[in-house]
Amino acid sequence: MQKTAYSFEREVKTHKKADVIVVGGGPAGTAAAIGAARLGKKVVLLEKSAQLGGMGTLANVSIFMPVGNVTGIYREMIKEMLADDLPAGHDESIAPQYSPFLLRQYLNDKMKKEGVDVYFHCEFVGAVREAGAIRAVIVSTREGLRAFEGERVIDCTGDARVAIDAGVSYRTGREGDGLTQPMTLMFTMQNTGKPVKPYLPEGCYYYENVSDLPQGRRLYWEQRDDGVLLVNMSRVKANGADMEQVNYAETEALKQVFSIAHYLQRTGFETYAIAHIAPQTGVRETNQIEGRYTLTEEDVVGGSRFPDAVAQTNYEIDIHSPDAQKTTDERHVDGYDIPYGCMVPATGPDNLLVAGRAISATHVAMSSMRVQATCYALGQAAGIAAALSIEDAVPVGDVEVGKVQAELSKQDARLLGKRDAKQTQ
Ligand SMILES: Cc1cc2nc3c(=O)[nH]c(=O)nc-3n(C[C@H](O)[C@H](O)[C@H](O)COP(=O)(O)OP(=O)(O)OC[C@H]3O[C@@H](n4cnc5c(N)ncnc54)[C@H](O)[C@@H]3O)c2cc1C
Repeated sequence: MQKTAYSFEREVKTHKKADVIVVGGGPAGTAAAIGAARLGKKVVLLEKSAQLGGMGTLANVSIFMPVGNVTGIYREMIKEMLADDLPAGHDESIAPQYSPFLLRQYLNDKMKKEGVDVYFHCEFVGAVREAGAIRAVIVSTREGLRAFEGERVIDCTGDARVAIDAGVSYRTGREGDGLTQPMTLMFTMQNTGKPVKPYLPEGCYYYENVSDLPQGRRLYWEQRDDGVLLVNMSRVKANGADMEQVNYAETEALKQVFSIAHYLQRTGFETYAIAHIAPQTGVRETNQIEGRYTLTEEDVVGGSRFPDAVAQTNYEIDIHSPDAQKTTDERHVDGYDIPYGCMVPATGPDNLLVAGRAISATHVAMSSMRVQATCYALGQAAGIAAALSIEDAVPVGDVEVGKVQAELSKQDARLLGKRDAKQTQ
């Protein structure tokens, strides 16, 4: 089919000016906004949905995977929201479950306390570039297109949406074939205390055995004491940043949810009914920017330490098969650093940082760094770096990482162990 291309010109009103504009209000975006606001910067956070928390709320994730360094804003969140789970030390691993509804409320409140201006229903549309920098971002709002101007921009969309629009080089998924980890629609079931009649809507699947299930396994968690079962068992081969594939994924995943619930109601959860289905199918992996440094499998497996580290994790390599197989590649990891250079685009605007799961990392490395706590840590560092780059009047790539680390420490984000093996800048 021949496609027509249009050039589209509009005059767009500026709605607000800020020091730092953060696009995307997931783990990375919320922490980036806080990190910059704590240095006295005026911060605007633009989020396309109606809630903060990213996949942690929108996709109903509901568990913080262990990262071996419970630190900074993430530690504060545990202390304020899940006090019983607070570990004594920063290096003690925890994997607490949480209510995504409470996290959503907590983050709204936290942003207010931190003085961050949050705008919901604001979807990034394009970057206006001038003299090698992004001058404004254009967003689609309930009032039509609006511009937000900022001195620094932090892309926390998870898909590197701003960076790509601004001309930053990127790659998608697995090296070689570009396939990404599959998408999953999370849901919960509630124990009603009485038998529930299993129901299979038309067009759904009858799963007879475990081997028929999309992941070939039963994967769920009984949540605390409230009779809620959190189910992570659907699996759709799709790239969450591809329009056509997302259309397929959203309908296919919902069919799988009803089919899985029907299976569970016949095999051990006879008194459980579907209670909540996440508002969107969860996205594990899409695009990675090409940064000044690319985190590799060798760094993750070999435990690389960097003098310019800004975050740390020991979360495992965790690759749900991109090939529509029913397997998951899980490999233990001892712990490693993530250097600042992974958030700095190798080429492109000099006032743009990228934080969260879209940083510069290979397919295998991102499977380990992508979990929420690490994204909160990266976001906090990016917010601090953006603020310091304004104070020192330097491009984001020229920020003194020692100063970022010192401010991280002031904000109670601690980097553990020696970091003197590799230099990335
Ligand atoms: C099914 C599933 C299960 C998972 N399980 C776990 C788990 O058990 N524990 C764990 O710790 N992690 C888990 N993860 C991983 C983790 O949730 C994510 O990797 C993490 O949330 C990434 O954080 P982020 O801030 O980089 O991006 P995201 O969480 O993806 O947030 C990006 C935000 O940007 C917004 N956005 C996107 N595009 C635009 C735009 N154009 N304009 C404005 N806003 C935009 C989105 O709405 C979203 O709020 C899971 C992920 C999935 C999908």
